Amino acid sequence: MASNESEYMLVPHKHKINFYKTTKVRVSNDFVDTVDPYHFISFPDLLARNFDTRVAFDFLGEVVSTDPIGTRIAVALWGSFAMKLNTYISQHNNDTAPVIILLRLAKLKIWGGQPQVGNCLFGSRLHINDDMPHILEFKSNLNALDTNVEYSSRTSQLNSDTVVANPEDYYLRFQIKNIDEILDFNEEVGLTIIATIIGFDMDDGWYSFYCRDCSKKVTKNDEDVDVGPFHCVGCGFVSDVFGKIRIVVRVQDERALLRLYCLSVM
Ligand SMILES: [Zn+2]
Repeated sequence: MASNESEYMLVPHKHKINFYKTTKVRVSNDFVDTVDPYHFISFPDLLARNFDTRVAFDFLGEVVSTDPIGTRIAVALWGSFAMKLNTYISQHNNDTAPVIILLRLAKLKIWGGQPQVGNCLFGSRLHINDDMPHILEFKSNLNALDTNVEYSSRTSQLNSDTVVANPEDYYLRFQIKNIDEILDFNEEVGLTIIATIIGFDMDDGWYSFYCRDCSKKVTKNDEDVDVGPFHCVGCGFVSDVFGKIRIVVRVQDERALLRLYCLSVM
């Protein structure tokens, strides 16, 4: 028995039982299953981070987009979870039925300043349109809401191209071009260039921190100021911030030079 206090907790109990190599486990025949094993958090509470974010939760929702930037709530699945959803969507591409996922023991993370649900460690389980009471109930509620709405081939709006197993599979989706050929394109297009980094333009790069609550730029306090590491004009002293970074990279291939402006949110 140990204290259950860490940044990642599967259940909100104050104690946990640790298993040793010598621990023996068997199925209990007389266990009365009266415990509700599910711990769902509503979308508004997830978006507002209105719960103990250290504790894993269960998540149920309809997949409306596999675009990396979701507007409702983003779910990022990794490893075998991503492959499972990808396979499901590619096999049901012509279905009109909604894709409902139930992710057990999920974790909330912050990506680019926005809440994002993901699988975590070894405890998560992903159910896609399985015959489970919660999924069936969710579907019937959805049907009730949608009675007048045409299912505009829901799954066919989803595409299975966003998940790839190897980095090569990702960049080989785009045409490989030389730097001097980029100017031939006058509309937005994905291209792959293969080039050598020859330097970084330090004067053009920058990084800044922003307040997680109001997104305003914050200033870093001196080390000896112990009220908080950052100061936000709107919120005062804060510690919950995210960063933005711009790196300017100079690259070269056999024909030309290029300056790449890489902007990223941390
Ligand atoms: Zn603020």
